[in-house]
Amino acid sequence: MDRLGWESRVQVVPYSARQFYLVLPPPTHPLRPAAFARKALQPPPVTLSGTTRVVGLFGYPVEHSFSPLMHNRAFAEAGLDYVYVAFPVPPERVAAAVAALPALGLAGVNVTIPHKEAVIPHLAGLSRTAELIGAVNTIEVVDGARLIGHNTDAPGFAAALRRGGVDLAGQRLLLLGAGGAARAVAFQAALDGCAEIVLCDVAPARATALATEVAGHFAACRTRAIPLVADALRPALGAATLLINATPVGMHAGDVYPIDLAWLHDELFVFDLVYNPLETPLLAAARDRGLGASNGLAMLALQGAESFAIWTGRPAPGESMLATLEGHFGAP
Ligand code: NAP
Repeated sequence: MDRLGWESRVQVVPYSARQFYLVLPPPTHPLRPAAFARKALQPPPVTLSGTTRVVGLFGYPVEHSFSPLMHNRAFAEAGLDYVYVAFPVPPERVAAAVAALPALGLAGVNVTIPHKEAVIPHLAGLSRTAELIGAVNTIEVVDGARLIGHNTDAPGFAAALRRGGVDLAGQRLLLLGAGGAARAVAFQAALDGCAEIVLCDVAPARATALATEVAGHFAACRTRAIPLVADALRPALGAATLLINATPVGMHAGDVYPIDLAWLHDELFVFDLVYNPLETPLLAAARDRGLGASNGLAMLALQGAESFAIWTGRPAPGESMLATLEGHFGAP
């Protein structure tokens, strides 16, 4: 026993994608809580060689990202000779970083805040979804030269809903928020045959502009913006079959939703893009009412799975990518 009362066999384990090292008591020691044990993820068995293909993430900052952990485990599981690296790219270097992709032989990168729109002028083309949404979160290097921008948030969102047993076709959607993530949700919902989309945001002009854009492309989907007042929100929720939160509300204790959670009704499926905490007050209310519901973790994993498939041409192990994130977030 040492002075902490541990046996001498302490464990040194990598903690999170940033590879901090934690010294933990042995697994059976009472000082080692279960949550710690879950987070003590083993490093992905990445073997680098002269043939290893590189993919990664352009953002600023990127140190907090879970993507290196999730993708490197997935590459190892799929037996692919790829490695995923986070690149901190300051805004004034976006053009140079994108231009370097073919020269350095990268297969592609993810793009995150603040570069999702800034990369677009430097690309040769966009997928239809990226063009509609006006944001790129995945760049594909085609034939070692041509840069194509994709948005996998949108299909990742649809795949996460399908995983919850929900098809977007024919749904009547009330969408809270009209920011970056809501754009992906709204266009994917319209693409997949949603019957109606009702939008709202603390910035009413933002909601109106998005509704006008979606309606302009998808006449068959009734799309409109409503003000954030009970007289408009309550009937809109009453008529909805799908409620989606694409605002940050629920991330912090004391956050106030634009809707009253007592208005939830039995015809609703509730999807919250927030994944930290895993169960927001909205999701807790949905659970209390016995409604189908999902947090944003599957969307996060499945957008990554879509990017994986674009770069490698192989189906991604989406469920194990989700399991990696669940392990990281301490999901039960
Ligand atoms: P964003 O671009 O800032 O958009 C959020 C929008 O919600 C903004 O227009 C914001 O207005 C509005 N808003 C804030 N509080 C509101 C309220 N009480 N009522 C109505 N509207 C409100 O953020 P984002 O990138 O779209 O992300 C939104 C949330 O989705 C975040 O929690 C993010 O973590 C999550 N997300 C999850 C995934 C996933 O894979 N699961 C992917 C993307 C995003 P103001 O800007 O004026 O405050």
